[in-house]
Amino acid sequence: MEILVQKFGGTSVGSIERIENAAKRVVKAVNAGKKVVVVSSAMAGETDNLIELAKKISEFPNEREMDMLLATGEQKAVALLSMAIRKLGYPAVSLCGWQIPIVTDSIHTKARIKRIGIQRLKNYLKEGYIPVVAGFQGVTEDWEITTLGRGGSDTTAVALAAALSANCEIYTDVPGVFTADPRIVPSAKKIPFISYEEMLELSSLGAKVMQIRSVEFAAKYRVRIHVRSSFKEEEGTWILPEDEIMEKVVVRGITVDTKESRITVVRVPDRPGIAARLFKALGEAHIVVDMIVQNVSHEGFTDMSFTVSKGDAPRAEEIVRRVSTEIGAKEVVRDDKVAKVSIVGLGMRSSYGTAAKMFEVLSKNGINIMAISTSEIKISCLIDEKYAELAVRALHEAFVENGEELKIGEEG
Ligand code: ADP
Ligand code: ASP
Ligand code: MG
Repeated sequence: MEILVQKFGGTSVGSIERIENAAKRVVKAVNAGKKVVVVSSAMAGETDNLIELAKKISEFPNEREMDMLLATGEQKAVALLSMAIRKLGYPAVSLCGWQIPIVTDSIHTKARIKRIGIQRLKNYLKEGYIPVVAGFQGVTEDWEITTLGRGGSDTTAVALAAALSANCEIYTDVPGVFTADPRIVPSAKKIPFISYEEMLELSSLGAKVMQIRSVEFAAKYRVRIHVRSSFKEEEGTWILPEDEIMEKVVVRGITVDTKESRITVVRVPDRPGIAARLFKALGEAHIVVDMIVQNVSHEGFTDMSFTVSKGDAPRAEEIVRRVSTEIGAKEVVRDDKVAKVSIVGLGMRSSYGTAAKMFEVLSKNGINIMAISTSEIKISCLIDEKYAELAVRALHEAFVENGEELKIGEEG
């Protein structure tokens, strides 16, 4: 039996009318002969509203209670979606994460899926039911409710597809994955096919259309994903293994991420062991460091900068201030108004001149680069936040709209 997982994002179930529209998409797939498992997010804005309520009580609400609260958003949506499918004459049954069960670790608010029991789902499918599963939530071995981090319903859908050896459709408010966020770059184009590796980079560098963990799951279990609009019938974007991608371009997409802060330690003594002390202290506090830059040393001193997520920045600053007095640095400066712009593409492995071109585009627009990081298939530059949109548009124009002039050669 061919199983299809269909996931509906928040805007796709944002009103009763949209829920009824989603129900029709489900029924259409059933009528085409598919066994469908539905996954739904909370109605648009619901999770934000719940977070806001909690913040009215406490700035740092207890995380177990937070999960208890956030899980209600998806529970409400699946009940309504299930009712809408029933209204069309098809037997649907809504299920919370714990009823599957989707078992996670116990890191509240950003839990990871450990295993999924599929017997109950399979029984429902065999009996002709359409299971409608609450996205974003799971349960620990001790029966505690957890959530999977913002955007986590994508991960629920892909993990279920992996467990059921099914294909996965992600219904969202844009018609697919674009060469840049279509809300920032109106001329962005829909990408028909993209590899897991490229999608992984796009997601981790700020393209929120797929949660990064969902792409990790897809890559590991080779789940074929079709990202498409819930409002239009047209084909969207297929996320597939690299060997199935025919066209390899140098730059597949451009992203921007404004969720990082930069911390600079000014005038640190330039001697062995200093960086180790600084980053060990951050590591012990479970703070992930992203870009790191160390300046050329002058008279035995240097400046060191790095970025962390904005959420971790206050704690990171505190730790760095403590260590910096111990190591004799002059001062510590934190800057929250930075943005990381990136270009991503498999073709970068075998092209040259890409980095130079990126730097040139930024400089022509008067944008200063504060830090650079690269991998085989991406280049990221840290810039002033106020230039974020300008940078994305300029890079899109240079690499996507007028991208043909890039040279692809054998040398790296
Ligand atoms: P959902 O509620 O369906 O999960 P999300 O809001 O999480 O939807 O993700 C869809 C949004 O992702 C789009 O509205 C779009 O603004 C944003 N986005 C960012 N980068 C991209 C991109 N490269 N392609 C498509 N959408 C993108
Ligand atoms: N409702 C959750 C969120 O807003 C999960 C999701 O939509 O994927 O982050
Ligand atoms: Mg999402």
